[in-house]
Amino acid sequence: MHETAVVEGLMRILGEQAKKNGAVRVVSVRLKIGRLRGIDSRQIRLAFEMFAEGTFAEGARLDIDEVGVTARCRDCGTVFEVANYRFVCSGCGGSDAEVLTGRELHIESFEATRG
Ligand SMILES: [Zn+2]
Repeated sequence: MHETAVVEGLMRILGEQAKKNGAVRVVSVRLKIGRLRGIDSRQIRLAFEMFAEGTFAEGARLDIDEVGVTARCRDCGTVFEVANYRFVCSGCGGSDAEVLTGRELHIESFEATRG
């Protein structure tokens, strides 16, 4: 399950950042996940609970911002929303587009306490 590996990586980063900030306990975490990642938010939540148990992040609230997919047409410059992975420009019908959003996968922010 690819969500497990994703959360494992995020927990490692979270742990490092919390330590750097002198945090003892993480109370909430906000993730940004682009739709192109093909990640199931529910699976992320389950994996997060599993990894957080017995750690600095146990019981932390997890917020997930799902980022929609947008692209810019290389032919006419139109920025359009991409539905169902169909990269077809809404302006000219071309299919040569550059992805603007939808590939996000990172910790946007987190709240922690020092005691
Ligand atoms: Zn176009």
